[in-house]
Amino acid sequence: MTPAGSVSQDAGSPPASTPSEQLEQGFRWLRFSPGLEAAYRTEQFRDLLGYLRVSLALLAALILAVNQIDRAVLPAISSVAPRLAGIGVMPPLLLLGLALTFAPNAAVWYPRVMAVAMAVALVVIGWVVLLTLELGESRVFVRLIIATIAIYFVLGLPVRAAVTANVAGAASFVAVASSTGLPAVEMQHYVSMLLMAGVICAVGAYALEHASRTAWLEARMLAEHALHDGLTGLCNRRRFDDHLERAWQQGTRDRRAIALLFGDLDFFKKYNDRYGHQAGDEALKAVAGVLARHARRPFDMAARFGGEEFAVLLYDASGKHAAQVAENILREVRGLGIVHEDSVAGGVLTISIGIACVQPEQGRSAAGLLQLADQALYAAKDGGRDQARVAGPEYEQMQTGYFHRRMFEGGAGADGQ
Ligand code: GH3
Ligand code: MG
Ligand code: MG
Repeated sequence: MTPAGSVSQDAGSPPASTPSEQLEQGFRWLRFSPGLEAAYRTEQFRDLLGYLRVSLALLAALILAVNQIDRAVLPAISSVAPRLAGIGVMPPLLLLGLALTFAPNAAVWYPRVMAVAMAVALVVIGWVVLLTLELGESRVFVRLIIATIAIYFVLGLPVRAAVTANVAGAASFVAVASSTGLPAVEMQHYVSMLLMAGVICAVGAYALEHASRTAWLEARMLAEHALHDGLTGLCNRRRFDDHLERAWQQGTRDRRAIALLFGDLDFFKKYNDRYGHQAGDEALKAVAGVLARHARRPFDMAARFGGEEFAVLLYDASGKHAAQVAENILREVRGLGIVHEDSVAGGVLTISIGIACVQPEQGRSAAGLLQLADQALYAAKDGGRDQARVAGPEYEQMQTGYFHRRMFEGGAGADGQ
């Protein structure tokens, strides 16, 4: 972890792995840690895409139109670069950029190719400007300034790419300018104008990109908070419900079983009453840590279902494996050694677990799986707590998802839910 208050990425600090860590570390050089950077670039590019395509096409059309007028108004351009006077250097490169936006992996290639393309454009425009200046025509110079503004603000380039292109363009302008026969004071004037425009644009674009990156990190942080339980850090009920639905569909397609472990702390109300709510919260966090360790595979998930109830989803797991995991959880929760004088097992806090394991298929539902695990949990509570129960043989004939209805139709133990 980075010490609080640090505002920049220290050379020695580990790369930020979460948006909040990145916000804390700062990103002075407009670059996040690799994982976040790739996600930011991809999402940013995707969000910009519509705007970018329209602006590239519009800008190319505008420049072509202006170039047609220039042929009449600025004969100097036609005399030094007759072909460029017709189509200009920018329109073909802008159209290349437009085509690139349709390429696979465009978020990676577009900024790279366009940074080089814009450097080339600035070199060519600078060269035309200097040739026309030698002919006594100074009005073309403003094109260089307009191109600079467009590169920073219209082409959707990251500031780093825009700076690279502009530095290359300005360096070439200065190099060529010193070899022309124009008076030194005049050259100094144009070079300083160009540098000033470049600096103003770079500062403005930096502020914009910094704000955009901050907003992206904050939005991501909020989205993550909305899906996690604030106390334990486990996934919350909302995230769990989504995940269960997805796992259910995947399991139906791949014919993989899903096991659900439904855990509830034993006599937790008494724990709170005796040791206080604060201690209760600490106990919940400790138990959550145990559960999280048992949901390590990509499709597994541990969640705080609500209050002192937890759920662990194990994808592609047999009933036997689920029962083993449940036994391990029981042992590890006991092993936390959280003193609970009112508990059933040796004066420490314990948990009861209900297990259901089903093969998802048409006609069954994820909600039914939850009901099964819930029934098994109550069997574990009835059996004396601090134990796991599998939704056993008496449930095997039941079609998950129709559980309560069948109970009701059979008239046995219906609770009307
Ligand atoms: P059982 O063994 O039958 O599950 O008994 P129990 O006391 O655990 O069950 P009950 O549902 O009566 O009590 C649950 C308690 O969990 C009540 C509530 O005070 C406590 N609880 C729920 N959420 C939190 C929380 O966020 N923090 C703390 N400290 N306690 C909580
Ligand atoms: Mg409960
Ligand atoms: Mg309880």
